[in-house]
Amino acid sequence: MAWQGIEGHDAVAAEFARACARGRVAGTYLFIGPEGVGKGTFALRLAKALTCAAPRDGLVACDACASCVQAEAGSHPDIDVVAKPEDRATIPLEMLIGDADHRMREGLCWRLLLKPAVGGRRVAVILDADHLSEEAANCLLKTLEEPPPGAVIILVGTALERQLPTIRSRCRIVRFRPLPTEEVLRVLAAEQEPGQANEVRLRASAAGAAGSLARARLLLDDELLAFREAVFRALGTRPLRGVDLARDVLAFVEAAGKEAPPRRARLRAVLEFALEFFRAAVLHDAAAVPPAEPALAAAVASWGGGSEPAAAAVAHTIDALDGIDRNANLAILVDAWTAVLEEPRLAHST
Ligand SMILES: [Zn+2]
Repeated sequence: MAWQGIEGHDAVAAEFARACARGRVAGTYLFIGPEGVGKGTFALRLAKALTCAAPRDGLVACDACASCVQAEAGSHPDIDVVAKPEDRATIPLEMLIGDADHRMREGLCWRLLLKPAVGGRRVAVILDADHLSEEAANCLLKTLEEPPPGAVIILVGTALERQLPTIRSRCRIVRFRPLPTEEVLRVLAAEQEPGQANEVRLRASAAGAAGSLARARLLLDDELLAFREAVFRALGTRPLRGVDLARDVLAFVEAAGKEAPPRRARLRAVLEFALEFFRAAVLHDAAAVPPAEPALAAAVASWGGGSEPAAAAVAHTIDALDGIDRNANLAILVDAWTAVLEEPRLAHST
C-alpha cells in the first residue's frame, strides 16, 4: 500500500516517519524532482500528517480528527500553501510578507510566527519554488534560517540548479525520483474512460514520460508525442541546423491556435523535450548511462557531445523556459534559443 495513496515515494515517507518518531523533523525542506511525480501532493499530505492529532504508525494521518478534516478541506488554519499565480512570472512578494501597507502583518512568513491554532505546529508549503524571485528569496532567508519552534517549511522545486544558492544552503534537500514507467502506465490506464483506453498509445505515452505522470498525460496528444521524437532527431543532427529547428518549432507552436496560453504550453513542452535530451546526454557522457528509450538513445549517441556542452545547453534551455514565464515574445525566444545551440562551444563538432 503506497504511503497516503501516493505512488512511488515510500522510501521518502519512511524517512519522514523515522524523523518524526525521533522528534527530529527539520524546520526547512527543499523537495526536488521532476514535474508531475507527486512532490506537491506529497508535501500537502505530509502537512496533514504532521498536524494530525493522532497520526497512525508511519506518519499516516488519521483522517478522522478535526485537524485532518480541515486539512482535507484546504481550510486548515495552520497549513499555509503558496503557489505562483498562473499569470505571474514569479511568486509575488506580498504572498510571503504582505503588501506594502501590511509588511510583516500578513503573508506566509508572518503567519508562521503565530501560535498554532489547532495542533502543535504550523506547516508552510511553497509550491513553484523554481519561481522565487531574488527579492522574495531574500525575504525568506531569515525564516528559513530560524524557523519558529515547531514550524515546518517545505519548498517544492523541480531541479537543484533552479534554486538560488542562498535557499539551497538553508534547506534539507529531499529528492523525488521519476516514477517507474510501469507505474506511470498503471495510473494512466486507470484514468482513462472505460473503453477509451488504447493500449499501444498509453504505452508510448508512458515510455516517453521520463517518469512524470504530468508528462505522460501531455503525451496522450499524438502530435506532441510525434514532435518529441522530431526534436530529438533535430538535436542529434550534426551540424545542428538552428534555422530549420527554429522554423519547425515555431510552426508547431503556432499550430496550437491563436491564443497565447496554448502556444506557451506547447513551447514549454518542446523545451522540456530538449531538456530531457541534454540531461540524457550529460548522463550518457559523465556516467556512461545510455537512455533506455531507443529514439532518445539513438539521438544522444548521434549527438556525441561531452557532458560540458550538454550541461551548458541545459542551462540555456532553462533560461528559455524562464523566458516563457516572463511572457517573452515566443518567436524571438525560439530564435535566440536555437542560435545559442549553434554557438561553437555548444556545437562541439561540425
Ligand atoms: Zn488526524
